[in-house]
Amino acid sequence: MVFNEPSIKSFISFSENIFSEVKNKNYTELYLIDNSLKTHSNLPKEIISIIDSNEFISKYFDIKYLYRRNKAYATIVIYNKCYKHRLIELGSLVASKLDNGNWRLNSSLKSNEEFNFALGWGLNQYKFNLFNNFSHLNIKNKKNKRELVSTLSGVFYGKELINIPSSDMGPESLEKTFIDFAEYYGLISEITKGDNIKNNFPLIYAVGKASTQGPRLLEMNYNVDTNYPLITIVGKGVCFDTGGLNLKPSQYMRNMKKDMGGAASVLSLANIIIRNKLKIKLKVLIPAVDNDIGSKSMRPGDVYNSRAGLKVEIGNTDAEGRLILADTLTYADKFKPALLIDFATLTGAARVALGPDLPAYFTSSDKIANIINNICLKQEDPLWRLPLWNNYNKWLNSDVADTNNISKGSFAGSITAALFLKKFTNTKNWIHIDTYAWSDSSRPGHSIGGDILGVRSIYKFLKEFIKK
Ligand SMILES: [Zn+2]
Repeated sequence: MVFNEPSIKSFISFSENIFSEVKNKNYTELYLIDNSLKTHSNLPKEIISIIDSNEFISKYFDIKYLYRRNKAYATIVIYNKCYKHRLIELGSLVASKLDNGNWRLNSSLKSNEEFNFALGWGLNQYKFNLFNNFSHLNIKNKKNKRELVSTLSGVFYGKELINIPSSDMGPESLEKTFIDFAEYYGLISEITKGDNIKNNFPLIYAVGKASTQGPRLLEMNYNVDTNYPLITIVGKGVCFDTGGLNLKPSQYMRNMKKDMGGAASVLSLANIIIRNKLKIKLKVLIPAVDNDIGSKSMRPGDVYNSRAGLKVEIGNTDAEGRLILADTLTYADKFKPALLIDFATLTGAARVALGPDLPAYFTSSDKIANIINNICLKQEDPLWRLPLWNNYNKWLNSDVADTNNISKGSFAGSITAALFLKKFTNTKNWIHIDTYAWSDSSRPGHSIGGDILGVRSIYKFLKEFIKK
């Protein structure tokens, strides 16, 4: 093994270290100044004179250093109004421009704005498999610190899970990681595998049976003994997707270690929920498989039973994510959740439609969609709704089974994937999220590689949802 299973504990202490007190209080002041403000009365004179001198020429933001005996004792960041509602992006950009060091934030930001700036700063600190290379930021608000740690540890943990290559993050390692996570929070986990998968989750079995690491369903429950509403989150855990016998071309197979990005997203979300003690019952479900090639591989034209009883024809072995999700959603229904959410790196078609930065989401509920749409742009963590367009259901028809796993044509592939999933759940409040879980290049708040998208927004949405 090159990479051990990541432990949530190490990401919590890493996130705490970013905002911890520094010995001897040896900080450089970081003055964060909104250029659109008319007065800057509480600032030291030398800083006001710099602002008034209009030395800041950048259209967006600029950084200046103040020196005393050849040593910078203060850093001034002045930003224009375009960043007023993009403070997460600004925090990340500023952190990326400064050397590693210890900074103390000096600003007139409100508490929630300070949170956003510090969140952006924190998001910029993640580097794969590295815990000792980061910049401290000292902020005033203790509550903000706590929530920053819960959010960042979740996001970092999820990114790390995706970034670990499938040689060290197969179904067995994902299971171990899952159990370690549950134990850290004192939760009981249940693992279904072997004959229990074969007999009760026929589609999960069909997808995973060719791998040397058998298919399994991972489950954990939080707040079991409460009367809180049950919210179930499901994450696609295809640890590596070769495409199966419908083999992927090289360029599409290259990053398929990320095909468990849905699983990483739900663990990331679970971490934020649990650390913030959200008043919900939470059930986390991850079907974990490899979509491999071997004598046991499912074949195009095969027909399998599903847990729901519908017979499914395999039109294409590369449409495997929806198969393992189908059985898992049916299982989730059994417990009558108030809300059921799945995260999955499901289709390339969602990327053709919306690109890498915008996970597509589907729901039949306009009420849910209105809340999400109101939240996600403010969170700088967008999700974009696509329709469950029933007329396309007929494209999934099969001559030999109740449904095909792929559509006859090539149009609207993310919609037909969502329609396929819908056949397997009766939960009224259901949200399906089709995410990329990856950044092809780094941009503010998003390092290159594994990425956690939409999770911060869904967490905020959950807080609203349970209020209703
Ligand atoms: Zn696939």
